[in-house]
Amino acid sequence: MKLLKEMSQKDLKIIKLIVLDVDGVLVPRGTEIQQKGNFLKIKTKKIPKKEIELIKELYANGFHININSGRGLYMLQKMFFSILPFVSLTYENGSATWIKGRVYQHTNSFAELREVEEKLRKIKSKSIKGFEPKEFIISIHCKRRIRSIEKVVAEYKQLYYLWNGEAYDIGLKSKQTKVVGLKNLIKILRIKNKNTLALGDNYNDKDMINAAGVSISADKKRLKADFFMPLSKKELPAQKLLSKILGIIK
Ligand SMILES: [Mg+2]
Repeated sequence: MKLLKEMSQKDLKIIKLIVLDVDGVLVPRGTEIQQKGNFLKIKTKKIPKKEIELIKELYANGFHININSGRGLYMLQKMFFSILPFVSLTYENGSATWIKGRVYQHTNSFAELREVEEKLRKIKSKSIKGFEPKEFIISIHCKRRIRSIEKVVAEYKQLYYLWNGEAYDIGLKSKQTKVVGLKNLIKILRIKNKNTLALGDNYNDKDMINAAGVSISADKKRLKADFFMPLSKKELPAQKLLSKILGIIK
């Protein structure tokens, strides 16, 4: 892995699409959620002003910017409201992509997830904070890992669970992954893998990072890539990368 500092004009020559993860990349990690019976409270994070400017500028320079996240569409639309004309949103771990008001669904998980969700909702534990509203995958926020959740999901061969330190994502193996979203998006945009650059920070970004022409990791312990950046509390990874790209192309 090379340091992001070492990225040069040569690396960006054929790049047309920039793919960004959300949590830990565009906004800090962590979701505040509280569920009590039928009441659900969830805090929306907003994208920092500096990143808005950088994304608009890259768009003006001809790049397609894609936000690829495990979050739901309604939430991404709120978080990125001010830049919706300049980005596409791939959501729920590659299940679908929103482009200028049009939704492209990449996977149908309805039949496979219905029964397991019913079982998961019956699990009683003080460590379960709540089910994040999702259309195609299941996300359960927990204070810690919960064995009974893992056991229920493991009964289904076609399903995965992914623990990211604050929540489980549950979905269809090899169908609801970020790379599925990326592969569908490049078909829609009529470009190739080699024309893409992707930035992620966590285990669920691995396949997406590997498929991209140029890959960048914001957490080299969790994710290997062509380039990495050291963890910094002052500057979010997306801000660092987008500034670097603009610095190179100008
Ligand atoms: Mg992340």
